Amino acid sequence: MTRRVSILGATGSIGQNTIDLIARDPDAYAVVALTGGNNIARLAADAIRLKAQVAVTAHDSCLEPLRAALAGTGIEAAAGAEAICEAAARPADWVMSAIVGAAGLAPGLKVLEQGAALALANKESMVCAGPLVMATARKHGGTILPVDSEHSAVFQALIGEDMAAVERVIITASGGAFRDWPLEQLRNATPAQAATHPNWDMGQRITIDSASMFNKALELIETREFFGLEPGQIEAVVHPESLIHALVGFRDGALMAHVGPSDMRHAIGFALHYPERRDLPVERLDLVRIGQLSFRAADETRWPALRLAREVMAAGGLAGAVFNAAKERCLDAFIAGRLGFLQMAEVVEEVLTTQSAQNGLIDAEVSLDNVLAADHFARKTADKLIERAPRG
Ligand code: NDP
Ligand code: MG
Repeated sequence: MTRRVSILGATGSIGQNTIDLIARDPDAYAVVALTGGNNIARLAADAIRLKAQVAVTAHDSCLEPLRAALAGTGIEAAAGAEAICEAAARPADWVMSAIVGAAGLAPGLKVLEQGAALALANKESMVCAGPLVMATARKHGGTILPVDSEHSAVFQALIGEDMAAVERVIITASGGAFRDWPLEQLRNATPAQAATHPNWDMGQRITIDSASMFNKALELIETREFFGLEPGQIEAVVHPESLIHALVGFRDGALMAHVGPSDMRHAIGFALHYPERRDLPVERLDLVRIGQLSFRAADETRWPALRLAREVMAAGGLAGAVFNAAKERCLDAFIAGRLGFLQMAEVVEEVLTTQSAQNGLIDAEVSLDNVLAADHFARKTADKLIERAPRG
């Protein structure tokens, strides 16, 4: 049976890995929508290759080049955030959510509202609006399949288990580009240095978030929202080899670990074929050659983002939306050379403090309007703080 699939964020790292799997079995899938941002050449080429119904770019200014690239193919072209939501709402059986940032939230909700299976790489939607995302899935009978490698690992370790028997969940962190750097050197770390990852090949933003541990901070919150755990049940440990992705600890003391190569096509393929397991083109691990696996504490002094994640989980409400939005602005400023590496966590912390002191947003209901308002406010507050931050 042909399955109707859409890929949101098709031109990115996760999007391209998803296309790699789908393109291996073209007769099995009918591609409905592909969305991208600036990379029009790739978006158009994939839309043509996969015979998509519609290709959408996030940017109005890219509409004409997209139309030109698709001329004569019969593939529709559209642009803008609204058009991405419309594409997400087009009937499909399975949709990959791989837009980067809070921009992935609204389209992901549209997918769930049509009752489709949402393969969720966009962790930011869980961080900003976990209760809303989960409630939308429940209300419309949609399924959410985690694609973040740690969450896919936990999901797989929980198959056939009773959640009531789960004592704790441990997610692993590679430690990113600066795992072995002395703390004082981190102050002068550059975007180019932060954008190299020891084990994973990912988009630029998540790679830098791995070096600052903001990625792991987002994932701690994602774990809480997705699996409905208490903050005290969730831990992060540094595991430099990135082969164990997560472990679930049960009340009898057993730990179930998910072990696999650092290749996102495993988690994407698992979500694509769920509930079946099918052959996937990923490396088979040679444990003898690997020899040993190691673990270190995830030091919250070295990586303040982890401490902030705990505070966000304790606060609940819109704290996640504020945290994520402030982090996105700090990351933009770091990439642009306007904010130092360690200043990112300082600014995010100050935005959280300012927000909770200045308005009731943190305690408000997690509705889409409230999340967008909190996101907007946090970005403005972060921008002001970044402007004032000492340079050099
Ligand atoms: P990339 O930066 O490689 O790709 C992001 C995608 O989103 C691109 O298609 C990009 O378009 C598009 N995009 C960018 N901005 C917008 C916007 N404002 N509106 C709509 N679309 C936009 O990111 P990744 O693939 O690395 O990550 C995607 C998501 O998956 C993130 O949430 C990330 O945290 C998560 N994730 C990624 C992993 C990985 O291995 N890469 C692992 C686990 C989770 P264009 O490039 O054309 O401008
Ligand atoms: Mg991850």
